[in-house]
Amino acid sequence: MPPELVPADGRFGSGPSLIRPGAVAALAAAAPGYLGTSHRGEGARGVVRRIRTGLASLYGLPDGYEVALGNGGTSVFWDAATFGLIEEKSLHYVCGAFSQRFADLVAAAPHLAEPAIAGAPPGSRPGFVPPGDADAVALIHNETSTGVWIPVARPEKGPLVLVDATSAAGAMEVDPTAFDAYYFSPQKAFGSEGGLWLALLSPAAVERIGRMAARRWTPASLDLAVALEESRRGQTLNTPALATLFLLADQIEWLLAHGGLLWAAERCRTSSAILYEWAERTPRAAPFVADPGHRSPTVVTIDLVGVDAPTVSAVLGANGILDTGGYRTMGGNTLRFGVFPNVDPADVERLTGALDYVIDRL
Ligand SMILES: *Cc1c(COP(=O)(O)O)cnc(C)c1O
Repeated sequence: MPPELVPADGRFGSGPSLIRPGAVAALAAAAPGYLGTSHRGEGARGVVRRIRTGLASLYGLPDGYEVALGNGGTSVFWDAATFGLIEEKSLHYVCGAFSQRFADLVAAAPHLAEPAIAGAPPGSRPGFVPPGDADAVALIHNETSTGVWIPVARPEKGPLVLVDATSAAGAMEVDPTAFDAYYFSPQKAFGSEGGLWLALLSPAAVERIGRMAARRWTPASLDLAVALEESRRGQTLNTPALATLFLLADQIEWLLAHGGLLWAAERCRTSSAILYEWAERTPRAAPFVADPGHRSPTVVTIDLVGVDAPTVSAVLGANGILDTGGYRTMGGNTLRFGVFPNVDPADVERLTGALDYVIDRL
């Protein structure tokens, strides 16, 4: 491929995603006094404090909201939520693999009622369903498997609003009063490593967590009351990856220094628009999500027509443009690009040239 078509940084994965070289350099510089030191020491606890205050400021969290964190990533937070946040019954908005997975976990939990489902086919957005007798509503801010985003809105007073924000947090604006738990892993828009979960919790969520912990036996590693208590002390229940914590704190402060969520969201809208516009003007491509208003600003899924997407992805990969395949279980002939805030829109521009080059030659 002509070198002028190759992006300066070829990482377009939807998670793990591009980690800024500056963050890695800062970690390397801090390493001698930080990596390999106690996670109960002042060094690590100071980083956890930076994460908690940084997220509170990035989101403008109202009084009484808290930032909790623990080991295991979003998948483990789902398990924890089946103990500490869902009292009896939940309603799940399902429109792809990740929202489906949480609903499946809840359906399999013997201590919870069969969940209600508001579903929509992949590539579209579910319509509003009244929560009925659900005590928790599970939303997904951005369905990473398909590239559909859903506004975070509180249906009515009553049920807790639990939002999977794994590929939205750090890249999309949200009103904190509209959610009770806004949870994510840091290896997507926060350009860090996996293995950690974070949750922004409203006073109602904190109250529910306390009540469920008193009432329901919960394995300690999944107990959100324990996680919250540890978080307040700048710790996690068991040993975290110190590198992940460092990269996350660095990224939060980098976002804040550039203008916070507003800036990040605008940058992602710019990058994603470059790809959607490319797909609309390219005869052998089309945005996978039909409704322009539903298209994700962070994860762009593109259908190819008359050209094999896995082959395109493999050729891009051989030229250093990485992780562009469609989501593994969604089928179809698609490419998928993570355009989180760490991705430079100029590189997305170059990427469209690379796509034209490959597609024209197949
Ligand atoms: C990546 C992702 C997950 C899974 O995150 P893990 O850290 O691998 O557990 C869950 N939900 C969404 C929306 C995701 O994008």
